[in-house]
Amino acid sequence: MRPSWSWCSLVLLALAMSLAAPVGSRADGPDRSHVLFISSFPRDIPAQAALDRGLTDAYTGGIEIHFEFLDQRLPHGDIAEGLAALVARKYRGVRLSAIVAWGLPAAELASAIRPTVGDPPIILLEISEADASRLIHPGARDVNLIVRPAYERSLGEALRLSKAERIVLVGETKSPSGAVRFGDLSRALETIDPKIPVELELDQPLDMLVERAAALPPRTMIFYFLIFGDGRGAAITPFEAARRLAESSGAPIFSAWESLMGSGVVGGYVLSHETMGREISKALRAITRGETPPTSVASMRLVYDWSLIERWGWSRRDVAEEAVMLNPPLNRIEQYRWHIVAAVAVIAILAVLVVLLARALRSRNAALDALSRERTMLAERVGERTAALTASTRDLERSNAELEQFAYVVSHDLRQPLRMVASYLTLLERRLGGSLDEECRTFMAFAVDGAKRMDALIMGILEYARVGRRQVPFEEVPLADVIRDVTTDLSSAISAADGTLGVAPDLPSVRGNRIELTRLFENLLGNALKYRAADRPSEIEVGWRREGAECAIWVRDNGIGIAPADHDRAFGIFQRLVPDRAYEGTGIGLAVCRKIVEHHGGRIWIESDIGLGSRFFVALPAPR
Ligand code: ADP
Repeated sequence: MRPSWSWCSLVLLALAMSLAAPVGSRADGPDRSHVLFISSFPRDIPAQAALDRGLTDAYTGGIEIHFEFLDQRLPHGDIAEGLAALVARKYRGVRLSAIVAWGLPAAELASAIRPTVGDPPIILLEISEADASRLIHPGARDVNLIVRPAYERSLGEALRLSKAERIVLVGETKSPSGAVRFGDLSRALETIDPKIPVELELDQPLDMLVERAAALPPRTMIFYFLIFGDGRGAAITPFEAARRLAESSGAPIFSAWESLMGSGVVGGYVLSHETMGREISKALRAITRGETPPTSVASMRLVYDWSLIERWGWSRRDVAEEAVMLNPPLNRIEQYRWHIVAAVAVIAILAVLVVLLARALRSRNAALDALSRERTMLAERVGERTAALTASTRDLERSNAELEQFAYVVSHDLRQPLRMVASYLTLLERRLGGSLDEECRTFMAFAVDGAKRMDALIMGILEYARVGRRQVPFEEVPLADVIRDVTTDLSSAISAADGTLGVAPDLPSVRGNRIELTRLFENLLGNALKYRAADRPSEIEVGWRREGAECAIWVRDNGIGIAPADHDRAFGIFQRLVPDRAYEGTGIGLAVCRKIVEHHGGRIWIESDIGLGSRFFVALPAPR
């Protein structure tokens, strides 16, 4: 069949474009040899990749390989001549050490261009002996290095393993290479058992082949010798075609090319392109060294796809010991490798965690121990201090009580002789009345006055000592009642002084001792009245406000006032801020007030200044 013009134009165009960068212009070292590799096949087939792997030896040996891909077809007639001229022109300036040609179309092109590119030796791959002797001079300097697959061996091994009683041959015969492959296979089929029927499925559309493969009877095997089109005009790689067949096939598929493995082909005796690449490398290196290359090499080997061996129910024993096994069965360790790795990792992580946890626990326990030791020490210390404090509080309370008892007894007992002194002085004054001169009478008056004054002082001490002496339980005391009682007693004195008294109508109740609270406000209101200013009528006010948890009650006057420096001193025992003659008093009243307030858990303070009146604050705990 003649190739179409459009396809031929494409091949020519591709080659013409590659001429844009003439090979001779490449800057290669003087010691590099150049080899032209013409492939009959497309560039992107797995066989090419496998071949490249094998050719690595040649590259590293300083051989530069230039590729031309013919994509499986060869132009004929004028086109063939034109193509040969193009390739020849492309490599004109290059001193080629050899031409390698893979497949029949490539071999024909190589033979055509050889005289125009310096007549280098030719190495042929996958070419029959007959074709080789037509195209080259085998044995002289050319080599038919790798002959086509040994189909008899491939078929024989396939039949042995599958025990098939029927062979279906699937492939293309339309292309020149396909025709060659079919010719070889036909000859090989003659060597097998004639009782085994052979069904030919040649040049069929792929979809029909797929259907046929799915419906094959048992004990049948398919031998596949490559398809490059789907039979309906679309190109397809032989690997993709094999895969499509294998997907639905009811019979195992064998073939003769290792590069098909992984596409659903079981394997067997196959031609290894990687091995082929290595053999080419060896031959090329021999040629570039001026040595004679080997005339032919074996590039077939036994290779199987383990997953398919299992799929078709065979075992490892069914295949030869030396067979290369792809996707080999995993031993237990390999099978569970990731489980083992994961388990070991988990155990390692757990171990690390346990160690960290143990360490954390240890340090936590140590910290806890230290803490509890400290707590015990603290508790002991607090215990000691509390005991000491309790003891000293008790001592203080006892000595306070003793002191108060002493003051009370002393003052109480002192009054008796004092009263006697006063009485006898009065008696003396009365008896001697007329006989005493003026001076003696004055002395007598001083003595009586002194005795009275001393009595007042003792009374003051007694009063001070009495505050809180009797453990009367606190009760709720309405301050309005207290103030009313006090002002009733003071009312005549207030009106005599032309004074006024204002009392807040809503005075609160507090918890306390009614008698002591009455004494407190008697003193404060009495002082407010006593220490009035001479130049103005007295104005007194009793008010209050809430201050947090306290009730602050005040007694305000417009009297003589107290200098700020004396505010604290005013509460001391017998402290008087005014001359005795000006205002009568003992200086005990405010001291008693402070003792009463403190006995009620409160505070007392003054806001005042000289001449500006005074405000006495009493803050007592507000009743709950
Ligand atoms: P006494 O009134 O017997 O002197 P207090 O203890 O009651 O004693 O008062 C102490 C001093 O505080 C008084 O001598 C007086 O100087 C001063 N004082 C008390 N209340 C007032 C007041 N309302 N205004 C001015 N001074 C006062």
